[in-house]
Amino acid sequence: MQDKPYLRTHPDVSGHFGRFGGSDVPPDIAHECERVLEAYLTIGNSYDFVSQLRDIRKHFQGRPTPVYYAKRLTDSIGGGRIYLKREDLNHTGAHKLNHCMGEALLASYLGKKKLIAETGAGQHGVALATAAAYFGMECEIHMGTVDIAKEHPNVVRMEILGAKVVPVSAGQATLKEAVDSAFEAWVADPVDSLYAIGSVVGPHPFPMMVRDFQSVVGIEAKAQFLDMMGVLPDNVVACVGGGSNAAGMFSAFIEEPCQLYAVEPLGKGAGRGLNAASLAYGHEGDIHGFHTMVLTEDDNVTPAPVYSIASGLDYPGVGPEHAYLHDDGRLNAAGADDEQTVRAFYALSRLEGIIPALESAHAVAFAIELAKQKRHESILVNLSGRGDKDVDFVYDNYPPETYA
Ligand SMILES: *Cc1c(COP(=O)(O)O)cnc(C)c1O
Repeated sequence: MQDKPYLRTHPDVSGHFGRFGGSDVPPDIAHECERVLEAYLTIGNSYDFVSQLRDIRKHFQGRPTPVYYAKRLTDSIGGGRIYLKREDLNHTGAHKLNHCMGEALLASYLGKKKLIAETGAGQHGVALATAAAYFGMECEIHMGTVDIAKEHPNVVRMEILGAKVVPVSAGQATLKEAVDSAFEAWVADPVDSLYAIGSVVGPHPFPMMVRDFQSVVGIEAKAQFLDMMGVLPDNVVACVGGGSNAAGMFSAFIEEPCQLYAVEPLGKGAGRGLNAASLAYGHEGDIHGFHTMVLTEDDNVTPAPVYSIASGLDYPGVGPEHAYLHDDGRLNAAGADDEQTVRAFYALSRLEGIIPALESAHAVAFAIELAKQKRHESILVNLSGRGDKDVDFVYDNYPPETYA
């Protein structure tokens, strides 16, 4: 039997997951994407590349991260058992470094001198700046001026790590404009630079490449869970912004008899601009050079402003593979609103001594609800990151005494 037929055949050669994904970009960007694809398919599968990446994961990132049984959290619910894949313990405190190190290693094989990317809240910028420092490369992070003002601590981190933060003041001066600006910078300097996207989004081959680099999360978690329990988990849960941590986790379970749940931020409710739940409320459409589910304005075309309490989930689209798996019935769209998320944030902090990122707290919040329904099942949650970056915000806006 063929090993992993799903992962080998999705996306197809044109970069499609069913009718989602693909590449619809100007010719100069398309040309560069082709070169990245070619390099990834050859170098990325070579023995040297794979063994070097494994070495980096073990000795620099501190992988494997553990799977942990959250006993006190589980006992407090009295239902299904909750297990956490501890990506918060990955170097830099989140899963993002998994694909940044892969993208940077590919850049180093190609003799590139510079890594370019966009960032919204700054998390991807910090992870990529870390990878650039490791490989001794320049790093240029494009960031909207609105975000620069809001996310000062991450701007400081990027600069300390040696990255150059490029302010983008066009349009709304946030993530979308930053992506456009970063693509332009890449196309202006294609020989010496590589664009390193922040999630399983954008034109082919980025959604595939980022999923593959993140698949280490699922591969580890599956082996660890089997080792621990002797069976597979009944349910696998991850939060979804663009969808990289979820794609990595799910990749090991797509062909297994496990229920998969993509947890989207339901924010303050169902209205436009109040959430960032593209699978739940979006329309089929195009964004950033690929076909997917998009939260739009009334015209059903223009990406709408989105909101989430977790800025890392604040994206009006979703990775094409998630759109496909959801459309196909393999992936369940789930959600957690702000209030549930903050409750989960405090519950995990107080019952387990783990302060989660607000992004990850969405997954925990949904897992808590699922545990109440599926009282005799196991639930494996990807805890995508730690919450140090969120403590001041939560403390000021949702004070601890209110959540006693
Ligand atoms: C960026 C981020 C996310 C959302 O990104 P995905 O690509 O959807 O995984 C989730 N959790 C943390 C901790 C993040 O930093």
